[in-house]
Amino acid sequence: MARKEPFQPNPEQLKLAPDISGREINGVGESGRRRPTRIYWHDPDTIAHGKMQLWFYSQNNSARAAEARRIAYQIDALPLPDIAGKKEQAPAGEWTAKVKELALRASAESVGIARMRPEWLFEGSDLDYRWIIIVAMKMDFDNLAQAPSVTTSVETMAQYSRGAKIAKTVAGWIRERGWDAHPHCGPASGPVLLIPAAIEAGIGQLGKHGSMISRQHGSNFRLAGIMTDLPLIADEPADFGSDDFCQSCKICIDACPPLAIGNEKQMVRGDRKWYTDFDRCVYYFNENMSCAICLAVCPWSKPGAAPKLAEKMLRRRQKAGA
Ligand code: SF4
Ligand code: SF4
Repeated sequence: MARKEPFQPNPEQLKLAPDISGREINGVGESGRRRPTRIYWHDPDTIAHGKMQLWFYSQNNSARAAEARRIAYQIDALPLPDIAGKKEQAPAGEWTAKVKELALRASAESVGIARMRPEWLFEGSDLDYRWIIIVAMKMDFDNLAQAPSVTTSVETMAQYSRGAKIAKTVAGWIRERGWDAHPHCGPASGPVLLIPAAIEAGIGQLGKHGSMISRQHGSNFRLAGIMTDLPLIADEPADFGSDDFCQSCKICIDACPPLAIGNEKQMVRGDRKWYTDFDRCVYYFNENMSCAICLAVCPWSKPGAAPKLAEKMLRRRQKAGA
């Protein structure tokens, strides 16, 4: 089948592009490890693509989306309780069970824990925590499936609002027990990259579309995190075969209007991994309400599909091994 003509960005937006590329900022082709550089959804005065980020709002100004964004930012800005003067003591296993139970009770669909790594923190961040708790919030698939649309954008914001409430609840609970905790959730980017931390915490695997695939929810979820010094026990990364599946699937590649998804892993700051071309994605994303087509078309995202696909992939691997 003939490939569609790639999307052409609005010339008004093209004029706002900085001289430096997203590939360079993100460290594509770099084999040495280094901290990530802030690229998008940060203070626009501090990033190269700040003018494009501001332009996004001029294009995505429906009242429903703006209200959903306002609510997400409002919850994110709510104050946290002070850290109690005396640290409560308990074994790490007990704290881990309590924190996970609290996150799930606060409505998270999945929760995992990773030991913090400096390379997940953006350059210039002086935060220093031992652990990161990652929570996943499932999106309504019918709303995701309409991507790109105001409905999908509102759904995304609703899940970030839910993530902010969960992260604040967990961080507040930890602080009331005398331990420091720093919550972070979308839609703005915080001091830490959530995707690599979530992979390490066993929430899912990286997909060819550059987002995650979870064994329970496919690509149909959003993330929030809480960094803390509370003694915890880390989870193991998960391997349920989604990376094997991505090797021979091209659905997201074919569905992406600006052709931003590649078929080969790339070296990015010392890791060979799937990389979505920011320099192509960002124009379409800005003109189309944050897009999310790649998440919607991923076969793992359909309700009920991910656990069955994981079972199939693991069975296939077992057979190949035998
Ligand atoms: S968000 Fe849209 S433009 Fe960006 S990679 Fe996914 S499908 Fe492509
Ligand atoms: S659509 Fe296919 S290739 Fe893309 S992330 Fe999903 S499974 Fe992987």
